[in-house]
Amino acid sequence: APAENPQVVIDAHGLPYLDAKAPVKKRVADLLSRMSLAEKAGQMTQAERGALTAPGDIAAYDLGSLLSGGGSTPTPNTAEGWAKMIDGFQLRAQATRFQIPLIYGVDAVHGHNNLTGATIMPHNIGIGASRDPQVAYDAGKVTAAEVRATGIPWDFAPCLCVARDERWGRTYESFGEDPALVESMETVIQGLQGAASGKDLKRNDKVLATAKHFVGDGGTEFGSSTTGSYTIDQGVTKVTRQELEAVQLAPYQDAVDRGVGTFMPSYSSLDILGDSEGPVKMHANAAMINGVLKDRMGFDGFVISDWQAIDQIPGDYASDVRTSINAGLDMIMVPYAYKDFHATLLDEVRAGRVSEKRIDDAVSRILTQKFKLGLFEKPYADTGGASAIGSAEHRAVAREAAAESQVLLKNAGGVLPLKKSQKVYVAGSNADDIGNQTGGWTITWQGSSGKITDGTTILEGMRKAGGSDSVTYSKDASAPTGGHDVGVVVVGETPYAEGIGDVGNGHDLALSAADKAAVDTVCGAMKCAVLVVSGRPQLIGDQLGDIDALVASWLPGTEGDGVADVLYGKRAFTGQLPVTWPKSEAQLPINVGDASYDPQFPYGWGLTTLTKVPEGGRATLKALAAAAALAERTGSDELGRAIVDKARLLVQRKVGEGITAAVAKPFADADHLLLTGRYGRAVAKLTEAYA
Ligand code: BGC
Repeated sequence: APAENPQVVIDAHGLPYLDAKAPVKKRVADLLSRMSLAEKAGQMTQAERGALTAPGDIAAYDLGSLLSGGGSTPTPNTAEGWAKMIDGFQLRAQATRFQIPLIYGVDAVHGHNNLTGATIMPHNIGIGASRDPQVAYDAGKVTAAEVRATGIPWDFAPCLCVARDERWGRTYESFGEDPALVESMETVIQGLQGAASGKDLKRNDKVLATAKHFVGDGGTEFGSSTTGSYTIDQGVTKVTRQELEAVQLAPYQDAVDRGVGTFMPSYSSLDILGDSEGPVKMHANAAMINGVLKDRMGFDGFVISDWQAIDQIPGDYASDVRTSINAGLDMIMVPYAYKDFHATLLDEVRAGRVSEKRIDDAVSRILTQKFKLGLFEKPYADTGGASAIGSAEHRAVAREAAAESQVLLKNAGGVLPLKKSQKVYVAGSNADDIGNQTGGWTITWQGSSGKITDGTTILEGMRKAGGSDSVTYSKDASAPTGGHDVGVVVVGETPYAEGIGDVGNGHDLALSAADKAAVDTVCGAMKCAVLVVSGRPQLIGDQLGDIDALVASWLPGTEGDGVADVLYGKRAFTGQLPVTWPKSEAQLPINVGDASYDPQFPYGWGLTTLTKVPEGGRATLKALAAAAALAERTGSDELGRAIVDKARLLVQRKVGEGITAAVAKPFADADHLLLTGRYGRAVAKLTEAYA
């Protein structure tokens, strides 16, 4: 902590809430009993750090929290820069009557993505493709360590959205389209927070997590927005109650059970078909937040609003404030009009439109997390772990995650893996671009192309793996293409964070003209592999016939080495599609479980370059089905999964490129059954796909 910081002397006032050994409940009750209404309203207020008109406002308004929105970084943007900035704010909070520490929050959605030089993980869609709960856990663990080491105790992640329509520009923030897959990736919460009890939150390598965006963010209808600027993000989720429970709500009970400390509602509205109410903004949705999240699911952390989201509730500001607080929101990300919010909330309570009981509940929830984080004892940054930021050890974790996230969709003639002896011609817009391979929420909110932070591009990884003499690179495929054994064309999207992605910039889920031309040039001249670096599937059907090998690389993060590892066979491709890969835009939305389902590649598809691909036919599948059923009955999950996986590989090998609707549907359904522990039925479905 900076030298000018006052020492916080525990028990300075001899007040019970300062006793670190007292139970949290008692400390909360004691502190709450001493606070004025204005102090309580302050705790419920979160301002953007750049919006503070004077640093003294922290004390003047008793602010409970500050955040850095995406790209709201200190100068210098270093670990010390962050720690110093936040300590400076904390110093102001220490100047209040009860020295209640601020809780500082950021979006670290794939590593400490605001910080230059941090380890950047694959975005969630790639983590989902890994199908590996350990990868999700490790990604959370590294993220937490890097974030807390810069003095930040709170992370607005993970997004537990179930992305049902790839036109949604936040699809990449989703672990996948299947709620069972999303749920299986919630180990990330333990990676971030540690034990479900919250006992690890005091550690200098853990952060408070946020399950977002509750509920239905990934289920909005295309073209349903009323705001005009977005056609799907922040739109309306129209579902039956049954669909709501089975798809969008399904992953959240597990998050509550895992002890996630905070929840963030969605900008979207929920329209439950058959209910007379019509669409209700989630920030005003008392039935869902008070009723379902807090009462039914038993969530006892606190609910933080999304950025300026209460402003979207119909009515004047007073109504926005009262409606959201009465719906169960505990803290509002104002983030600019904090003075207004504070005054309005006080007015609403004084007028009896928001009860003091509600305020006490909200403040108790907030204080509970602050106590759990140990902020009263250690309000200032503990940068003890800062040397691990961007370290070789952390990058190795990200490299592993990147490798596991790669999905091999097609591999005609066994083009992949590449051999070291081969001369490789590399081309395409995303082969050598850290910004493009990290995507949105990297250094800035929207992310950007180019060398925006430290890391290894896919091209650089390939040069290391294959030897720089054997790799020739030409971004636009204009260099001579003769003489090479194989081409690798890396295409895809440029970064974006929210809204509809890059659709508005002239290219939708189709590849750009330049990317298409690069594929044509290279694949027309030699055997080729195409890597799609993007936040969601890209429509590739018209060129698929000319492409020998196709890889969904997602947004792999800073460690291009991980992609090179699978390309050169240092390790096998094991990723599986976390979302259905459509043939055309007209098919959207298309999801596992749909009655009619005829995608380019089904949910769960993913070839392997494992050398030992299982052999066998119908008889083998029959035997596997029996074994899987036994595993299911005896609750042997590991065995069950291994058996289904074997059956899947066997079916994929037989099907090859003959993916018809009759194959795709049972294949995708099998994957969902696998994730829900129904191994016997999963193999039975795979047997249908085999037929
Ligand atoms: C996003 C949230 C994010 C918040 C704070 C909003 O625009 O929807 O996911 O946590 O900004 O940066």
